[in-house]
Amino acid sequence: MLLVAQPELGDAEKRALCETIDSGWITMGARVRRFEENFAARHGAADAVAVGSCTAALHLILAALDIGPGDEVVVPSLTFVATANSVLYVGATPVFADITALDHPILSIADVEAKITPRTRAVILVHFAGRLADRQAWQDLAARHGVHLVEDAAHVIGIEGVGTYGAAAAFSFYGNKNMTTAEGGMILSRSPELLERTRRLRGHGMTSGTFERLNARTADYDVTMLGFNYRMDELRAAIGLVQLERLDSWNARRRVLRDAYAAALARDCPEILMPFMDDGASAHHIMPVLLPKGLSRKTVSIFLREAGVQTTVHYPPVHHLSFYLDRFPGVSLPITEEFCDREITLPLHPAMEITDVATVVTALSKAIQLQGALT
Ligand SMILES: *Cc1c(COP(=O)(O)O)cnc(C)c1O
Repeated sequence: MLLVAQPELGDAEKRALCETIDSGWITMGARVRRFEENFAARHGAADAVAVGSCTAALHLILAALDIGPGDEVVVPSLTFVATANSVLYVGATPVFADITALDHPILSIADVEAKITPRTRAVILVHFAGRLADRQAWQDLAARHGVHLVEDAAHVIGIEGVGTYGAAAAFSFYGNKNMTTAEGGMILSRSPELLERTRRLRGHGMTSGTFERLNARTADYDVTMLGFNYRMDELRAAIGLVQLERLDSWNARRRVLRDAYAAALARDCPEILMPFMDDGASAHHIMPVLLPKGLSRKTVSIFLREAGVQTTVHYPPVHHLSFYLDRFPGVSLPITEEFCDREITLPLHPAMEITDVATVVTALSKAIQLQGALT
């Protein structure tokens, strides 16, 4: 089965794990620190804070910005549920905004602007599918309304500019992302103060960590804020250090595969709408396409599965998930809703060959023709 996403893990990761186990120090030590330093350097930043997940990163960023009850945070609905959940974790209210267009499925500046109120403290921007949003336009909006910009950068690692839009950016190293530590996340911010607050919040609000106390030969610490346990361990950091070295070649491979998709889809599936054809900077995290209106996505996905091709959906819109529908009824986002109705995600990962792309597109073309003949 050709999978939608697949981690690249091999001997180098196994060696790094063994070395970590042999070292006898398994959490919050030199490897986590080096991973933070290398990740920051890779993104032109001075420093970074490693955490247990992107969800934890988003939570800590909002907490460090003192966002809480009574505050509103504008979020897309075309995202993973964690984006909106992080707003609820700090007691604030998520306000959903629509995407720009079917062929440009990134948060709409106009709709965000329409949803900003005196209570709005921040906007969480998702670089959907790895495509970087328009930095200048978003910074202008943030300045106009005095709101914080937070990047949910789960889809984009290693692309120039990510992490520089606003207050901070949250990254994910979950197993299906462009690089992985199995579970894991990272915070980038250009504000040393904000970064320091998230660092302290990550470890119970304590003024020093175990590793620092070992080196300082003192057992003293204080707790100055209500913190969490969102730490990363040495085993994950060891894998992350290896993965980071290979990220550029994987991102380049993703681009080659995406270009092959663009050519093959234009030739064999002209009915398919492929977003982001304007070709801006992207980490090509996923390969979302829109089926023709009225076609059954379920039937297409079953046909593709039988042809050995897995597909998924990015995403069921968050405002339609039961938990959110119950709490925030009556939200209407017409472009997001049409996008999510018609979207199907095709396999895209660095282990794929160009011939795999041809296999997917041929099967998709057949599935569309077959359904066209039936209806
Ligand atoms: C994967 C993902 C997350 C959550 O990442 P975790 O590391 O699993 O917490 C958040 N937002 C988006 C857009 C994602 O794709």
